[in-house]
Amino acid sequence: MDRVQKPHVALLPFPALGHYIPLLELSRLVASQHLTVSYVTTPANVPRLQDFVDEAVNCGIDLRLLVLPTPHVEGLPEGLESTDDCPPESHGSIFALANKLQQSFDAWMELQFQQQGVAAPPVCVVFDSFMGWARQSAEKFSISCVEFNPFGAFGNSGTNSTARSVMQRVLEKEGEDCVVLSLDLPKPLRFKRNEIDQDYWNVDEMNPIAKFILPMLQIVGKGGSGLILNTFEELETTYLQHLRKLTGKPVWAVGPLLLTSYFGGACNKVSTRGKMADIAADELVQWLDSQSAGSVVYVSFGSVVKLCKEQTKALARALEGSQQPFIWAIRVRESGSSGNAEYLPEGFLERTKGRGVVIWGWAPQLLILSHPSVGAFMSHCGWNSVLESLSLGVPIAGWPMFGDQFFSMRVLAEMGAGIQLCEHLGGVPDEEKVGVVLRQVLSGDKGKEMRTAAQKAKEMARKAVGDGGSSKVHVQGFVSEMRRLLKMRQEQSSLP
Ligand code: UDP
Repeated sequence: MDRVQKPHVALLPFPALGHYIPLLELSRLVASQHLTVSYVTTPANVPRLQDFVDEAVNCGIDLRLLVLPTPHVEGLPEGLESTDDCPPESHGSIFALANKLQQSFDAWMELQFQQQGVAAPPVCVVFDSFMGWARQSAEKFSISCVEFNPFGAFGNSGTNSTARSVMQRVLEKEGEDCVVLSLDLPKPLRFKRNEIDQDYWNVDEMNPIAKFILPMLQIVGKGGSGLILNTFEELETTYLQHLRKLTGKPVWAVGPLLLTSYFGGACNKVSTRGKMADIAADELVQWLDSQSAGSVVYVSFGSVVKLCKEQTKALARALEGSQQPFIWAIRVRESGSSGNAEYLPEGFLERTKGRGVVIWGWAPQLLILSHPSVGAFMSHCGWNSVLESLSLGVPIAGWPMFGDQFFSMRVLAEMGAGIQLCEHLGGVPDEEKVGVVLRQVLSGDKGKEMRTAAQKAKEMARKAVGDGGSSKVHVQGFVSEMRRLLKMRQEQSSLP
């Protein structure tokens, strides 16, 4: 296909791994439908993306990295261009960096329209909700824009309602401890007051990140010509329908955004998803193979959360006391002069040797979740993790910490595939409770019910991404829209 015949889409992720990963998967998915996709990033993030892109290119997929120069952000150390690289206090600077990319993105767009690119100029920019400036860029170049939000449909509806209630100062309390969300929701939702971010309670003195995020969340899906979500129709029917009604736009549910090969069981080709794993895949698989089916607890709190010493030690004691085999991906706040050992109780590693695997850093999450020995996932309920776990049939013991994670926990609890064991970013797990919850998830009647619910979700997910499945149909819907946009442009340019 030549420069004019193939729809070209620019994809604009927010620089955090929980956003990069699903958008990379989406890029591969749509580019494999005979589209050109330019995935926008900055230099320090290239190493974590290159392998993925090379692999896609080797399969004949037209996926390119568009590397924009790093904008200067006061106080942000050189080479830190993603939230997972930074301590929490620098996250505001990553938002500033993301915001400042507009100038160089617009300059690149300008070049594309001057016919200097190797592909036709984009017909659409798919932008992460936290890159809201893309709406203006699209308007400036008279192209379409479609939003991608990494939360699920319920998480989107809930955070949207929260943001609007906060901004309009109508967040409704019921008694001392309860909040009722009712704005723009199909039915009122009750949450504990402390499940709604602390930062949202004082609108006049919100922290800079809340100030940045809330205005974006309250307009999710409304500014573009559609919304793409990493979920699937059968999992979140009610809230997908609700979002369609609320936005009046197409909402394409294209998830789960992961390779279909995982549905068949453990797949070793995953060590570079997001980051290079900090453990050899074959070593891990060998250990997993030696454990009995459904017995292992996988513990990970995503790409952003880093536990403090007190939390890490409490969790270590709980895992040790539970007597269950475990894999624990530990990300800690900072390494002291003596390394990370001070985060764990003395002798923990020796006492749990053989029964537990500790990964300091990045775990190959999908490889782990797709292994039959894994029976439970202790997770912070980031939406990617929740969806990955459900899609691979693993129930969740949840420790929701902030943002949409409380909404995701509720999705899990309502479908019977999850149970909560701790809460909040500052929460400290109760040793005894962790033991009880893990035993519940891994064995007994409750565990059986949870596994059945998770297996049902897995089956639905597999069907959704299969031929004729709902997610596949939605991907086609998006791709057809891109083709329509290209055709329209071609027809307009041939007008006398
Ligand atoms: N992830 C991973 N290895 C890790 C931690 C996370 O592969 O050690 C991946 C995980 O599979 C998911 C993403 O990183 O795709 C984390 O996204 P999520 O929404 O769960 O949490 P966030 O990082 O956004 O808090």
